Amino acid sequence: MEFYSTRNKSYRLSGEQAVIAGIAPDGGLFLPCELPCYGREELNRMKALDYPQLAAKVMAFFFPGIGEQKLLQACRKAYAPEKFGGECPVRLHGLDGNTVMLELWHGPTLAFKDMALQMLPHLLSLSLEAAGDARRALILTATSGDTGKAALEGFTDVPGTQVAVFYPAYGVSEMQRLQMATHRAQNVAVFAVDGNFDDTQTGVKRIFADAALREEAASKGVFLSSANSINVGRLIPQIVYYIYAYLQLLSNGCVAPGDAIDIAVPTGNFGNILAAWLAGKMGIPVRTLICASNRNNILTDFFRTGVYDTRRPFYKTGSPSMDILVSSNLERLLFYLCGEDDEACAGLMRQLAQTGSYRLTPELLQKAQQQFFAACADDDQTAACIGRVWEGFGYCVDPHTAVALCALSQRPDTHFTLVASTASPYKFSSTVLRGLGRRPSQDEFENLTLLAQFLQEKPPEQLSSLRSLPLRFEQVYARESMPDLVRGLL
Ligand SMILES: *Cc1c(COP(=O)(O)O)cnc(C)c1O
Repeated sequence: MEFYSTRNKSYRLSGEQAVIAGIAPDGGLFLPCELPCYGREELNRMKALDYPQLAAKVMAFFFPGIGEQKLLQACRKAYAPEKFGGECPVRLHGLDGNTVMLELWHGPTLAFKDMALQMLPHLLSLSLEAAGDARRALILTATSGDTGKAALEGFTDVPGTQVAVFYPAYGVSEMQRLQMATHRAQNVAVFAVDGNFDDTQTGVKRIFADAALREEAASKGVFLSSANSINVGRLIPQIVYYIYAYLQLLSNGCVAPGDAIDIAVPTGNFGNILAAWLAGKMGIPVRTLICASNRNNILTDFFRTGVYDTRRPFYKTGSPSMDILVSSNLERLLFYLCGEDDEACAGLMRQLAQTGSYRLTPELLQKAQQQFFAACADDDQTAACIGRVWEGFGYCVDPHTAVALCALSQRPDTHFTLVASTASPYKFSSTVLRGLGRRPSQDEFENLTLLAQFLQEKPPEQLSSLRSLPLRFEQVYARESMPDLVRGLL
């Protein structure tokens, strides 16, 4: 089992080495050279596995150097009931006969990022162990809001690791900011950057490409790695919940064996939806993937026209974790669309770097359109959707999940659909309250209470407890200072 780079297929590493490296030296992303494919009978047998068992089985294919036994132990810790508020880390919630919500936000930071970031630190330390590598890891993370806190949680006090999180200073929700700025672990640093998410992501990618900085780190026994979804150690754990959800749907009779489902995913960096697409390649019968965007609808345009054009305005929206113009993981889809042609993929990426855009050939566009339906929703449509779903089903969704439901409603036909629900509504209380026709207060903690009263629940402890925590990281830094900030941590 090997992984290769989307820009150079002859550059190959083991899964363990790919997790350690994060990104290929040529800037390409790692993908497995082969995928397992589960047949109907095997899927039927897999229904008996609990979530950690299934996760260990799926991951063992990609990380044979670690082995299923150790992976299972790690999965039991990563997905422990006390971290996810129940025996199973994900929940299914039927909305209507044709729509089932896959709630992925019951983890410590209340967003789906926990599903992978609780696992990644284990994968990283087991990979280092398997590779006999004694270096320390400095994990660099650019975040549009949710990855940052999930990485901080996942890596808190993990021996041999240090985490640096960079977030756009004025581009995250107040709760997201407080979650990061109050984090107390010893081995973490959080930096607000004067720029948008793309600026911070580009800054992190530049640091990875900075040979001098890497060398400086190496001389101190440190290597740089990533907790972003460019790392296969994040991508692969994300495949698991789509398989798990499908098996649940089979078990409870929502779908018949062999019947294909649609999957709708609110999309930013294209990681979560790519995981769903890979689950399809691994044997889950998937008909269409619904790629949902907010007003930053570059992916909607891409799937409609074949042109990916980043030369456009960047909007701040009520679904900030999707405020992204450069969706890193799209490169992985391109690689497959091109028939695993690394040169073609590298060519498109070169064009993107040089001109800010690229265009698919009509054949490739057609191939993409056969598998993806893309649609977008602005903040008003999203708010209206939050209200409509509450009125119709007594179910409250967060703004990101609402964007997915909006996109779904624009699909030309109806079909059984699994919808990735990516965050707890409490993380975005003011936006959700507005959607529910309530007037939010200026104070986000009061909004937590208002929303909880409306829903007749208790607000999640993970958020209400932030109020009494001291702010630890407050300063805003210039983009240009990112390499120096990293140097300072070495
Ligand atoms: C990160 C995030 C997304 C986007 O996921 P990608 O994998 O980047 O496409 C959507 N919703 C929420 C709540 C998120 O945190």
